[in-house]
Amino acid sequence: MSRFLLHSDVIADYRGTIASPGAILLEGNAIQAVGSPQDVGHPESAKCIQLDGMITPSFVNAHSHLDLSGLGPVPQTESFAEWLVEIVRPIRLDSASIPEHVRKGIELSMAGGSRIIGDIAGTQLAAEIVASSELLPVSYVEVIGFGRGQHAAKEKVLGIPDQFDISPHAPYTCSLEVYKACFESGKKVSTHLSESTAELEFVQHHSGDIFEYLTKVDAWDETVQPWREHPIDVLLHLADGCPFLAAHLNYIEDRHLAMIANSNMSVVYCPRASAYFGHVDHRWMELVAAGVNVALGTDSLLCLDTPDRISVLDEMRLLYKRDGEEANLLMQMATINGACALGIEPSLVTMSEGETAGLLWFDGIESMGALLDSSVQPQWAIPRQA
Ligand SMILES: [Zn+2]
Repeated sequence: MSRFLLHSDVIADYRGTIASPGAILLEGNAIQAVGSPQDVGHPESAKCIQLDGMITPSFVNAHSHLDLSGLGPVPQTESFAEWLVEIVRPIRLDSASIPEHVRKGIELSMAGGSRIIGDIAGTQLAAEIVASSELLPVSYVEVIGFGRGQHAAKEKVLGIPDQFDISPHAPYTCSLEVYKACFESGKKVSTHLSESTAELEFVQHHSGDIFEYLTKVDAWDETVQPWREHPIDVLLHLADGCPFLAAHLNYIEDRHLAMIANSNMSVVYCPRASAYFGHVDHRWMELVAAGVNVALGTDSLLCLDTPDRISVLDEMRLLYKRDGEEANLLMQMATINGACALGIEPSLVTMSEGETAGLLWFDGIESMGALLDSSVQPQWAIPRQA
C-alpha cells in the first residue's frame, strides 16, 4: 500500500487551521498522522510531496441530481411548474442518454471537490452508475406518485434494492401514503420540501401555479387530496422522529425553527438553486442558530452558473460574500453537517487520524477566508486508492 508524506503551508478543516506549516502522513486512504512537520516526522518508507498552499478534506454535496447534468445550465422559464415539465421531463424521458449524463455529473462533482454526495437518482440505472464510480454516494432513488399513481409508487418503494435509499420527490407529487411508505421502508429518506409558494398553495389549497399548470395541460387527477396544512408540519408529523433530509425550505414560518430543531430533520440549503428560481431571504442562519443541522447542496447543474463543475465550494463563496457568514461555519456546513445529514461518518471529512474521503489541495491559498475570497479551484492532493 502506498505511503505519502504531504507537506503544505496550511492544513485546515471546519475547525479552521489545524497546522501551519503542516504535514500529513497518508497510507492508502487513511490519515496516520497530521500536525506540524516536526510532530509528524519523516518515515523512510513515505514518499514526500510538497504542495504550496492549503490542504482540506473533501466536500460533501448533500443534494444533487447528477442525472440532470447532460444539458448544462439552462435559462429559467416563466413558472416553476413549466420548468419541471418543459426542462426536466424531456430529460427523464430520454432514457438512452442516462449513462452519459450521469457520468458527466460524476466528473463535474469530482472537479468540484465533492467525493461524498447525496444524489437523487431519477432511475435505478442512474443510482447504479453513481454507486460504481469513484464517488462515495448516498443514492436516493426518486419516487413520484399521488392520486391514481400512488399504488404503483408504493410498490416501487418496496422494490428498491437494499444498497439504495429513497427520495419521495416533493409534497406536490407524492401523497401522504407514499411518504408514509418511504418513512417505514427503513431506508434513508431525502425529499424536496417547502421549495416554492406554488408548492404551498398546491398542497394546502389545490390552487396556484402548479395546480393551474396541471389543469392547463390536462394532467390533473381529481382523486388527489389536499393536505390542508403547511407541508413542513405534515412531514414532521408523518416522520415521527425518523431522521430525514429536506432540501430547500425556502419558505418557513417562525414556529418551524424550534419544530425542526427538535426533530431529526436535516436541512439542505442550495443557495444558487434558490437564487435561480427567484427565492430570497432564506432563513438558513436562523435555522443554524436554532440548532438545526444545515448542510449545503447544489441541486442540479441546470440551475448552476458553473458548467465545468458541480461544487458546494461555489455555494460557500456565495454565502461568504452575500451574507458575510464566518468561513469556518460554511466549511462545517459543506463537510461534517453534510455527512451527518447523509448518515455518513463525519470523520471522513475532517483532518484527523483514520479513513479519509480524500484530500483537496488549493494552490497558493493560506486560510479558509482567503479560499472563499478567491476563485481558486480544488485539485485532489493524492488519487484515492481503489
Ligand atoms: Zn433537487
